[in-house]
Formats: sequence, structure tokens, C-alpha cells
Amino acid sequence: MTRWRFAAATDTGLVRQTNQDAVYVDDTLAIIADGMGGHAAGEVAAAMAIEAVRRGYHENASVEGLVESIQYANREVVADARENPEHFGMGTTIIAVGLTVDLEGRTSPTLLHVGDSRAYQLRDGALRQLSDDHSVAEEWVRMGRLTPEEAAVHPRRHQLTRGVGVEDTISIDVSSIVAASGDRLLLCSDGLSNELDQDTLARIASAPNGLEMAVEQLVAAARASGGRDNISVILLEFDEVKVASSPVRRTMSTAPPPVERPTKTARVRRRRVPTWRAWAFLVLFLAVVAGGVAIVRWYAYSTYYLGEDGNTIAVYEGQPNGVLWFKPKIVKDTTILIKQLQPDGRAEVGATISEPNLTEALTEATYLHHLWRMGQTTTTTTTTPRSTTTTTRSTTASTTTTKASG
Ligand code: MN
Repeated sequence: MTRWRFAAATDTGLVRQTNQDAVYVDDTLAIIADGMGGHAAGEVAAAMAIEAVRRGYHENASVEGLVESIQYANREVVADARENPEHFGMGTTIIAVGLTVDLEGRTSPTLLHVGDSRAYQLRDGALRQLSDDHSVAEEWVRMGRLTPEEAAVHPRRHQLTRGVGVEDTISIDVSSIVAASGDRLLLCSDGLSNELDQDTLARIASAPNGLEMAVEQLVAAARASGGRDNISVILLEFDEVKVASSPVRRTMSTAPPPVERPTKTARVRRRRVPTWRAWAFLVLFLAVVAGGVAIVRWYAYSTYYLGEDGNTIAVYEGQPNGVLWFKPKIVKDTTILIKQLQPDGRAEVGATISEPNLTEALTEATYLHHLWRMGQTTTTTTTTPRSTTTTTRSTTASTTTTKASG
């Protein structure tokens, strides 16, 4: 079990009218928030962040619980600034150390950080900064564009690149603290770190006179140096420290909460379940196809013609060459042989003759046969007009025999 002792102080300083810093510390959690924004909005943002992290941590004392609590604080401050015009532009830094319990049940210190408030670790009088400032000048130092000396006097050294409540998304630096018994942690707002150099910080914060005395002396030194900003300090000293079973060191970014898209889900649902419209379209489509097939079939079998069936003449139903898959079929065979027709008549048997019905087709066959018979007995009747043979045609129709029926 990791344990610490603590002392804390916050001071308005000598220049500012109000203190927009907020500080919270207990046996397992330490937080400093440095609020920004006019008309006391900074105080509101800092207080909201402290309360959100405190509540979130005590509900879930894990790394995830702490990260989620800062994400929640971010959403709360963003929402409040949107609802209240006088809070427009407010935000806050946050630096927090919590004793977090991991999956193996080990309790160890975890640091979370957004903005330019700082955390230092002190051991044997030496001081090491644990947090990277999220300010324009410090980001440029890390990118190699500025030296630390240039950054210290750069006009954009106070301009933050990240903050709580500034944007819908927030990136949080999270790291496990590896400490030993007797190590101290110093958390502070920039009102302390801007006024005192690292050697002064290290000397006062490491002094063996006790934590309360060290904190008082740090605030006093910052005031003596000018006290141009609010000054907040938390000093922790570990009695006993465990190291996390799987230490973390990463930046955790969050996307804004997903926006409800009811229209999209409705569209997906509509696509999965066919509506009555789809069914109606399908029925109509099938009806059109069936109708088309019926029309083609009607056309294919709408006529009759005389054709050969072996040696004899037969009446076929259908188009001589067929239509699509509707082939002509024999409906009646006659006893008239092909050779019992004159050459002209034979030419009419085949693909080109068409007759509107079965009776007419049979009449035509009989007529052609009659012409041939006349040719066999006399030599003058080959030119007999068709109109004079009506009686003959109707009586000789009985010579046919049925072979197939439609
Ligand atoms: Mn400040």
C-alpha cells in the first residue's frame, strides 16, 4: 500500500484581484487547477474540474477512472461555456496525482496532466520535472524550434496548446510515477514555477523542516519574486511507494461523444426490411414479364401454314421459323402427298404460306391438291381461279385425318 503525507497552499499573489487557481488534496488524491477566463469564469472552470475529478476518482480509483473524470470535466466545462455567455472562453489546466489500483490490486501513484501546471519529483535535494508544459513555446522546444532559454522569455510561453473545457476533444498526458520512500512530489501552478528558478524550487521544497513549512516558504518566495499570478502548491512525501504492475506513460486523446444520427439508422432499417413499395414493384415487374411472354406466345401461335410431314402435307400452327422458344407444331396431317401437287403448289408449301385459321389451311391444301387432279385429267384447268372452287374445297375437306390437336 502506497502512502503519502501532504501539505498545500494557494495564494492570490500580489497583482491579481482574484484567485482563479483551485487546490484539492487528501490521502489518495492531489489536484491543482489553474482557471482562465474573464469575469470569474476561470474560477468556475477550475472548481468544476476539481469537483469532477474528485468525484470521478472516488467512484473509480483506477487510471481509467481518473482519465474518464477529466474527460467528464472537459465536457462539463465546454457545455457550461456554451450555455452561459459570460463563461465564453473559460477553461482550466489540471494536474492531478492519484493513488490508483491496477488489475493486480496494486496501489501506485499516477500523474495526469493538461496545460502548464507542473509536477516535480524531489529526491536527495535534486528536482526533476515530470510534466511537459502544453504551451506553444514549450511545444516548440520539444520540436527543436526553440532552446529552453529562448522559450523562457518567448512571448507565447503562456499560450496554452491544451486545456480542460477548451475544445470538444481533449488529450491527457498519463504516466505512472516511479518513486521511493522519502521522495517528494511538488505540484504547482505557473504562478510558482514562473517566479522561481529550479534551484530555488529544489532547495525550498527539499528542506527537511516539514511539508507545511516548505509550502509556506515556497509561496512566500514567489510573492517576494513578484507574485504576478496566483500561486498554488501541493507537496507530497511518500512514506511507502509501490510501483504499478504495468506502468503507463502515454497521451490519451478522446473524440467528442458520438452524435446521434437517427436518419442514418432509419435508412439502414428501411434497406433491410422490404416495404410494400418494394413488393408492389416486384409484383408489377413479374406481371410485365408474364404479359410479355403471353404476347410473344400469342404472336408465335397466331397463324397456320402448310408444311411437309414426311411425304404428306400437314397443317402447322405457329410461325414457319418459330418465335424464340415457341416452335411450330403439327395440328393436322393430311393424306395428300407432296407429289400430288403441281410444281406451283409445291412451292407454296413451306415457310411462306400463312393462313388465319385451321379450316382455311385445310381448304388451301385441298385446293392445291384439286388443281393437281385437274391437271391429271384435263389440260385446261390449271388456270382455274380460286373463287370458283369454293364448293369443292368445302366438300373435300373431309379427306383429312386428324394427327394432332392443338
Ligand atoms: Mn496561472
